[in-house]
Amino acid sequence: MRSLRSLLPLVMAIAAIAGCSTNPSTGRSQYIILPADQVAAMGAQATPEVIAEFGGEVRSPELRAYVAGVGQRLAKEVEPEFYRIQWEFYVLNSPVINAFALPGGRVFITVGLLSEFDNEAQLAGVLGHEIGHVTGRHVDERVSQTMTAQLGVAAVGAYTESALVNEGAGFLAQGVLLKFNRNQENESDTQGLKYMTAAGYDPAAMYDVMEILAQAAKGERPPEILSTHPYPETRLRNIRAALKGPYAYTQGDSNYQKYRNRFQRDAVPYLR
Ligand SMILES: [Zn+2]
Repeated sequence: MRSLRSLLPLVMAIAAIAGCSTNPSTGRSQYIILPADQVAAMGAQATPEVIAEFGGEVRSPELRAYVAGVGQRLAKEVEPEFYRIQWEFYVLNSPVINAFALPGGRVFITVGLLSEFDNEAQLAGVLGHEIGHVTGRHVDERVSQTMTAQLGVAAVGAYTESALVNEGAGFLAQGVLLKFNRNQENESDTQGLKYMTAAGYDPAAMYDVMEILAQAAKGERPPEILSTHPYPETRLRNIRAALKGPYAYTQGDSNYQKYRNRFQRDAVPYLR
């Protein structure tokens, strides 16, 4: 017999199956059926498997600390509703060009992608974009859609919390839930531009990264990051419009820098 206490999360999960909620960061109404804590638990559970899939974390403590430092600087700029997220930044020992985030605030970037950068603001642009997927609750949306479609709303409600987290972590580790649509990509770019600028980075670096990736996409081995974060051409257009519009004031202003020297000194030597 299950006690009433153990049923409580279940009852709360069912209550959450009301459907739509408004995201405090983007203001957009979203179909999310599970509490953020449960989706975060799925992300936490999927983390070791995801890390192993990409060759583990890099050995260099210097590189790990450097990337985490840039990430934490950006994480300070998220909206108050997301202050309680414990952000963690991982550098994966893989030559593929990739970056992604799991719900709950775990952000990953490969050595392969880091090696494409020239300056710290480019790194900030990518990490800011990934943070934007978390605050935009994009994976939460995918999890909700997938679980409802594959299991049915009633079945999702009938799961115990731990079984639900297990099921969701499985979906996450498969990777399919980390593939985003055009709206989510544009939303994350908007969020990323906001966070990186607030942290004192030149938002034009976001454009530079997209240009590097769009260029690489034309080669024989398109960067893996574009299969999960698609639409480079649309995104280039939108970022350029943002730089000429709301972020025009940053251009030529020394408060917004690319920090090339810092990247060359604190990251590049550890990428070899
Ligand atoms: Zn993305």
